[in-house]
Amino acid sequence: MSEQGCIFCKIAAGEIPAERVYEDDVCIAFNDITPQAPTHLLLIPREHFDSLDKAEAGHKATLGHMMLTAANIARDKGFADDGYRIVINTNSDGGQTVFHLHVHLLAGRPFVFPPG
Ligand code: AMP
Ligand code: ZN
Repeated sequence: MSEQGCIFCKIAAGEIPAERVYEDDVCIAFNDITPQAPTHLLLIPREHFDSLDKAEAGHKATLGHMMLTAANIARDKGFADDGYRIVINTNSDGGQTVFHLHVHLLAGRPFVFPPG
């Protein structure tokens, strides 16, 4: 189900272009338009839900699949050994700006913790 006016639903539907690096029947990975690291991908589920805060038991398989897909992409692209950062910004204090759940996959430089 897509949500009217949702930019990531439009990307999933191919209505807005994105540089896709991976896709399957559950999720799509594409380059972030404003990269914060040499590699900055976004993984989105094809199914719209607003955020991790809105995830339900029925999303368990999708969320698990996305985590494993992120790890597979990291290995396939050769940055798993050096390391990477997975981020799911959630709601206002979490810094979420697009309300279609997405996983940031950042790599190619060291990251500090805690993030700002
Ligand atoms: P967040 O702040 O966690 O909601 O992240 C939203 C991310 O989506 C930001 O890193 C944006 O740069 C990215 N973004 C917004 N619009 C697009 C787009 N059309 N294509 C690719 N990335 C986008
Ligand atoms: Zn959406």
